[in-house]
Amino acid sequence: MPNHYAKQTLKRLRNDIPIAILIADILELPWKTAEGYFRFLCPRCGGFDTATNPRTNLARCFTCKQNLNPIDITMIVKRQNFRQAVQFLQGIRKVDAKELAAGIATAMASQNQR
Ligand SMILES: [Zn+2]
Repeated sequence: MPNHYAKQTLKRLRNDIPIAILIADILELPWKTAEGYFRFLCPRCGGFDTATNPRTNLARCFTCKQNLNPIDITMIVKRQNFRQAVQFLQGIRKVDAKELAAGIATAMASQNQR
């Protein structure tokens, strides 16, 4: 098992899995939409003062003043070390991300109708 990963591999892991899908469908953190924004329960402080940035694929908690990439957030939620988190993310890259994204879009649309 390699001790360190190629930069390219890590870059792909940070960018391939949309952060909102990782949070909602894979790590199954509680989430909601407010004013059309996707917000998740911060795994560090338990607050909802959060946002995700699809462009940078980062999750941010305004209370913790921290940006979390997919590897960071996986490590926190699953209490894994860096290597375990990388392996976990490599496993789910095979998941059909398009299907998950469609599921979230539907869920968000139905929340916004309320
Ligand atoms: Zn926080």
